This record gives sequence, structure tokens and C-alpha cells, in this order.
Amino acid sequence: MSVPELLFLGTGEAFDPRLPNTSLLYRGDLSLLLDCGYSVPHALWSVTHDPDLLDAVVISHGHADHCFGLPALCVWMRERGRTRPLRVLGGTGVRDWLDRLLELGYPGACAPDRCFPIEALELVVGQTTELGAVSLSVAPSSHSLPNLAVRVQEGESVLCYSGDGAPTTATAELYRGASVLVHECCHVNEVTGGHATLDQVLRLVDEAQVDRTFLVHIASEERSTLESVLASQARGRRVSIPEPGQRVVI
Ligand SMILES: [Zn+2]
Repeated sequence: MSVPELLFLGTGEAFDPRLPNTSLLYRGDLSLLLDCGYSVPHALWSVTHDPDLLDAVVISHGHADHCFGLPALCVWMRERGRTRPLRVLGGTGVRDWLDRLLELGYPGACAPDRCFPIEALELVVGQTTELGAVSLSVAPSSHSLPNLAVRVQEGESVLCYSGDGAPTTATAELYRGASVLVHECCHVNEVTGGHATLDQVLRLVDEAQVDRTFLVHIASEERSTLESVLASQARGRRVSIPEPGQRVVI
């Protein structure tokens, strides 16, 4: 089995003028898309034309920059001839929520008699979901909407992704010993309640003993400040700011 790999499709916050919404393409035993905001389908289409590539999409929470790409993604797959099922994994009520979102985007296009099967699967805190050789587990962060941080484990390789939100005791536990952590870092040090700051993420990296950390979803007006503060405060930790298109072996 080859070592799983991560491709950053987007690394931006909701309103970044340059960067697509934060989204990760995981390629291992399965191909997973972690979050699918409104600018993500186009980023995906720039790296693949294969409608069968994805086995599942994992949605951290219901804000538009994390899920409003789903209607376009699903209709594109259908138009390109996909027949095999796609799983969409999310928090409580994902089936109803997904049906409403797809119907709003392209009414009728994803109805069961007109589309490949779209299976909704609820991720539950405290339970592990097995997909092939991949184990998924989740924990709630502190965000303005319920948000599930996710741990994707395949053998010794562990990718963790925060979605949105400040760290919690539960997410710190979820990330313990991760090979790669991708964490939102919206602000340098302004605590707005609902997003992470650089201080919080650096403490988390130490506490959870994470090997490599990538900071995403940075407020665009704070980006250059955050880069220079990170340069002075990283102190031997393996923490960096990725660009879209960057690949990382997990
Ligand atoms: Zn959000």
C-alpha cells in the first residue's frame, strides 16, 4: 500500500480575493474530499477530469465556504457519467441538510432516479467510521456553527483537519500524535470567539505532539502579519503556510 498523500485544493478563508476556500484532497486507500466550499469544484477540476475519483466528501460544518460547492460537484459528476455511489459525511442531520442543499442548487438534478446514488453518512462524536482501510473520527471545535474536526487514519499515517473553530480539549485529544495537522488560523492574536489564533494553534501543536502543521483559512488582511509572527514564534516546530496545489506525503 502506498503512503497516503494530501493535496491542498484551496487554503483560503471565505472572502479571500485570491485563494479558493480551504479544501483538502486525500489520496490513500480511498479518495476523500475534505470540505467543498463554493470555489472548490473549480479548483478540483483544475487537477482532475475524473468523475469517479472521489469515494467520499467530508463536510466539517454548514457554512457556505465549506459546503456550497456540493451541488455543482455532484451535477458535474452526473454529467460526466458517474454511476457509482458517492458518500457525503457530515454532522447530525446530514441527510436532510444535503437533500435541501442539492435541491436548492439544481432542482431535481440529484433526485435518486436521475443521478448516481448519493449516500449521506452521519459522523458521531465518540464513534469511529471505517471506510475501506481508512478510519474517521471527529470532535467538536468552538465555532459559531457546530463544526466537526476530523481525524483520518490509515495505518501509521494520520491526517487531522480542523474545519473552522478554535481548539477544544476534545480536538486536542483528536489530533494527538498526528502526522499532519491542517488547522484554521484565522487571526494572529485577536480572539473573536469562533476562530483560532496563532497562539492557540502553536500551543495545540505542542500539547497534541503533532509532527507537521499547516495553517489555512487565514484572514486575508492579517496574512502578512501572521507570516512574520509565525517566522519569529515557530521555534523549531514544523509549522508552515501552504499554497493551493501543494502536495504533502502523510
Ligand atoms: Zn465556519
